[in-house]
Amino acid sequence: MTLAGKSVLVVGGGIGGLAAAVALRARGADVTVLEQAGAFREVGAGIQISPNGARVVQALGIDPAQIGQRAQGVSLRNAAGTRVLHMALPNTGAGFHLVHRADCVAALAARAEGVETRFNAQVVAVDVQNAQVTLAHGSTLEADLVVGADGLHSVLRPALNGAAKPFFTGQVAWRALIPGRPDDAAEAQVFMGPGRHLVSYPLRGGALRNIVAVEERKAWAEEGWNHPDSPENLRRAFAGFGGPVPDWLAQVDKVYLWGLFRHKVAAQWHGGRAVLLGDAAHPTLPFMAQGANMALEDAYTLARELDHAPDLPTGLAAYQAARRNRVVRVVEAANRNARNYHLRAPLAPLAHMALRLSQRVVPNAPLRQFGWIYDHDVTQGAKP
Ligand SMILES: Cc1cc2nc3c(=O)[nH]c(=O)nc-3n(C[C@H](O)[C@H](O)[C@H](O)COP(=O)(O)OP(=O)(O)OC[C@H]3O[C@@H](n4cnc5c(N)ncnc54)[C@H](O)[C@@H]3O)c2cc1C
Repeated sequence: MTLAGKSVLVVGGGIGGLAAAVALRARGADVTVLEQAGAFREVGAGIQISPNGARVVQALGIDPAQIGQRAQGVSLRNAAGTRVLHMALPNTGAGFHLVHRADCVAALAARAEGVETRFNAQVVAVDVQNAQVTLAHGSTLEADLVVGADGLHSVLRPALNGAAKPFFTGQVAWRALIPGRPDDAAEAQVFMGPGRHLVSYPLRGGALRNIVAVEERKAWAEEGWNHPDSPENLRRAFAGFGGPVPDWLAQVDKVYLWGLFRHKVAAQWHGGRAVLLGDAAHPTLPFMAQGANMALEDAYTLARELDHAPDLPTGLAAYQAARRNRVVRVVEAANRNARNYHLRAPLAPLAHMALRLSQRVVPNAPLRQFGWIYDHDVTQGAKP
């Protein structure tokens, strides 16, 4: 079906919503983004855009190197800081990029020419059959299609799948930014300890350093799911860690703690004239760094399938068929990584030895096992 002249309301102006807006607009749709915040939000600091996401960014007309730094490698270290494994990342192809979320959002927003964005537009209800949304202040809007890119607490998801509360995954994450050093290597470092791990990489060419520190917890009783915390709590939780970690943590003066919540991957991604994408359909643990990448893939695939389909229901069904199994597999891989990173003695040293060995036998084997994630190309080689 032609998207030219079709009206689309995109609920949510995060990475998924903005990517969908750009992709649908590029195929001729009249797109309005409804964002509840007063401006595009800067939350979250660093994200890693892997080649599968970078191909989408490129196909949307953005050079990934314009929004982030190409990563040269990934190092896995034990809690003491000793390197267990180093994997060099390829210098060719779409590449892995270390990106400030705000820079990704700003680049997508700048590409959204001809897209109308309404801020302070909180959607409180969606009529799926009539593609009609109700805003918090009472007005309603109607279109040919509503795209729910409204994240973990999606309003559209329960309309398609029934109400369910997100569940606590038993993990919390502190996120912090500290000043970086321009000569810092462009690599992601993962420090693995019992029941916890810490990931760090430079941002903005070394001007900043991003820190994500994850700890297993039995319960999450705090009000809300994301709040400022004392840097002392972070330092205490990672007090046993060595290498550069103590120096980094000493520099943290502001930190946010997130309870990591999840839903099961939605069974139903579309219905009537409405469709879900990104975290609204499949919030995932950050341990494969794929949440934003999956949202980018979803966005592109949705526009592609609608463009190729004879009608809306066929296009929406083709979109879900193209996406759901892949996303389930990625979510499961992220769950497994949580367990692998947090191994305790006596398993941890054995697992680390096995990793070293596998790297020696087949260089970059641990990376290659995820080729099915990184080599995937939803753009099918499309040029912007
Ligand atoms: C600690 C951590 C580290 C991560 N690291 C990475 C990484 O390295 N790489 C990666 O790919 N992913 C990473 N992720 C995951 C990634 O951040 C998310 O998966 C991704 O941002 C989801 O994008 P989205 O657009 O679907 O949702 P969101 O980013 O949640 O955006 C939803 C938008 O909708 C708006 N909204 C919500 N409700 C309404 C409403 N009712 N009306 C109007 N607007 C509404 C919100 O204000 C928001 O702007 C990480 C996540 C965490 C927690």
